Amino acid sequence: MSTEASAPASRIVVVGSLNADLTIYCDRLPLPGETLHGHGFAVNPGGKSANQAVAASKLGGRVSLVGAIGDDPNGTMLLDSTAHAGVDVSRVRRAADAATGVAIISVDAAGENSIIISAGANGTLAPADVDAAVDLFDDAAVACLCLEVGLDTVMAAAQAARNAGATVLLNLSPYAEVPQALVRLSDVLLVNAHEASLFLGKEAIPGTDFDAAEWEPLRKQFADRGLQRVLVTLGAHGSVVLDSNAAGAQPITFIAPTKVAAVDTTGAGDAFTGAVAVRLAAGESLAEAAAFASVAAALATTKKGTQAAYPDAAEVRLVRS
Ligand code: ATP
Repeated sequence: MSTEASAPASRIVVVGSLNADLTIYCDRLPLPGETLHGHGFAVNPGGKSANQAVAASKLGGRVSLVGAIGDDPNGTMLLDSTAHAGVDVSRVRRAADAATGVAIISVDAAGENSIIISAGANGTLAPADVDAAVDLFDDAAVACLCLEVGLDTVMAAAQAARNAGATVLLNLSPYAEVPQALVRLSDVLLVNAHEASLFLGKEAIPGTDFDAAEWEPLRKQFADRGLQRVLVTLGAHGSVVLDSNAAGAQPITFIAPTKVAAVDTTGAGDAFTGAVAVRLAAGESLAEAAAFASVAAALATTKKGTQAAYPDAAEVRLVRS
């Protein structure tokens, strides 16, 4: 790859889901069997991969999205929103026989959410779609993957990225057991606390008062599973970087949260992931990328919705200065 100043930035390839987010705002989340009155309803573009692609693009990344939507108005809304954010959507396929994926979301007064997704067209995304987009990986620095599409497709994308020498960033969300072959292909694992505990088979991960000694057994467990570089997000409590490869730096780093008045945390994890992808593509260390992403994700919680709430690089710089 050329290093001349005029060379285009390395590409971030995001392979995965696009969903229409159907959100109701309410005072508290309903209990099983309970019906509540909400106050406000919105239909917004979402889906983990579309969100991650938009987050990365708004932060200055050169991003291509590989995905599938239905031939319906929700699909058009998603294409428009991702393209408007500067994402290359030339490899987002219109599926003839499936509706665009949907997420039904409840958001409470504290900004906490609960979500059910119906895959729709996302379920048609197949290894053949990755094959058809394999040229995108030629100049890719990072591939961003999640589990809202089939595992065979995620595997194909991870393999294509590995073949091209790109960093594979796997967001293990929504959590599912994954084959060790996929773990081996993943350079960076990104999980929230719940996903981390499920992956490691632990009842809980260390508490909110950071103590590196408590995280050392987790770092070792991840490393023993073949994962040298892991990011664990802790919502309003920040995030932890476990980098067993950190040359000359500490292997466990706590990233304190950026204090904000959160109104909607939906998609904060996707903002974080997209931001990490941008900074890794720019050559930063995992800890540097996480520090930048922590600010971007915090800003994303200060507005309702996901993609429209994501900050640009100037907004992040302003908070960090
Ligand atoms: P989601 O599934 O809703 O997208 P997630 O569970 O994947 O979220 P979180 O751990 O909730 O991800 O949040 C990701 C990151 O966003 C956190 O590590 C933190 O940096 C930032 N963040 C989230 N909520 C807040 C908050 N209330 N205040 C400040 N930062 C926050």
